[in-house]
Amino acid sequence: MAGLIVQKYGGTSVADADLIKGVARRVARVHDSGTKVVAVVSAMGDTTDDLIALAKQVAPEPSDREMALLWSTGEIVTSALTAMALNALGYDATALTGFQAGIVTNAFHTRAQILDIDPIRIRRVLDAGGIPIVAGFQGWTEDLDITVLGRGASDTTAVALAVALEADRCEILKDVDGVYTADPRIVPRARKLDAISYEEVLELARAGSQVLHPRAAELGEAYGMPIVVGSSFREAPGTTIVRGDQMPLEGRQRVRAIAHDLDVGRITIVGVPDRPGIAYAVFQPLEAAAINVDVIVQNVSHENVTDISFTVSRADLTRALRLVRPVAEEMGAREVTSSDALATISVVGSGLAANPGYAAKMFGTLAQAGINIVSITTSEIRITCLIDEAQVAEAARALHQTFQLEE
Ligand code: ADP
Ligand code: ASP
Ligand code: MG
Repeated sequence: MAGLIVQKYGGTSVADADLIKGVARRVARVHDSGTKVVAVVSAMGDTTDDLIALAKQVAPEPSDREMALLWSTGEIVTSALTAMALNALGYDATALTGFQAGIVTNAFHTRAQILDIDPIRIRRVLDAGGIPIVAGFQGWTEDLDITVLGRGASDTTAVALAVALEADRCEILKDVDGVYTADPRIVPRARKLDAISYEEVLELARAGSQVLHPRAAELGEAYGMPIVVGSSFREAPGTTIVRGDQMPLEGRQRVRAIAHDLDVGRITIVGVPDRPGIAYAVFQPLEAAAINVDVIVQNVSHENVTDISFTVSRADLTRALRLVRPVAEEMGAREVTSSDALATISVVGSGLAANPGYAAKMFGTLAQAGINIVSITTSEIRITCLIDEAQVAEAARALHQTFQLEE
């Protein structure tokens, strides 16, 4: 389909009626320019958090299935209001839920993955010259259940639809005007990047940066979908996400950005007998419950006893503990401890692979700032340190300076 773009508007960009009217005018301008446009919208402001709080008031542990249905309403409200605002301006807009948009998912209700998209209803609207406004973050299962794709996943809806509709590009529009060298909320001197590679933005997302949902970056790379991250308030060039081999040569060999993640809960199983099958026994139940496990550290054993530590999202901490405790007991571990006062700080960049010196530089910077490193993990293009949550902003600013990211 030629001349089609998908635009995604984040929660802050649709937080009230005036902002929604502004979004409607922006979508209308694209339509007026002769480009077909599909808008994907998030829930207004803090709606999703409010819905979680509301659910907790009626049930201590709401079921995943009902939680997904509840969460899906936030995005539906925005899509209906945005379509109404466009209609009021004289445009033919049609609001669609994820179900109506044909987004089929698996049955992990609150963290579902897209299996298939049949955008027949969207195409019908487009073919008639209309503007589809799709509720982000949601889909449906074979069983006719409504699902949601995980926190922050409206980005993923947008990129997936762009791929399914063979759009020219996907624009992720938000309250910041691009991808910065660090979260501008904690590093005032952070700088907007003109370009970043899929690989780097994916690592940033995995390291906790909210700038783009990790699965959106993954999909974009897998299908070669051009993605632009930009401002929803101003029409200005944002950050273009490109293939690594299209990055300017000089810019390639360096640290690209700093990411931090406060959503870290840590579980430690202390005094585990060191024998085959232990890691499997611990992590298999977590995987079966679709709990994402991140930083895993197993200490060198002394006298055949070891400690296993790992991190999960804070929202999963209680559930993970409940699954791990009986397993730990069965294997004769000494105790299970947990913490929700830790955070991660990461440096990301394709330059890391070729520069072993960067790790030492990172540890040195943290040491100088008096920040204790609890544990360290690395990937080819990322170094992540687990530190005290209270020291995250300081760590980010110090690392930003060390790696000369303001230049
Ligand atoms: P949306 O609702 O549009 O999806 P989010 O609130 O999820 O927006 O994400 C936007 C926020 O991400 C920004 O306000 C910013 O504070 C934060 N952020 C974290 N890291 C970065 C970064 N590297 N570049 C830009 N923004 C970042
Ligand atoms: N409203 C959802 C959330 O807050 C999805 C999104 O905004 O992307 O997580
Ligand atoms: Mg987001």
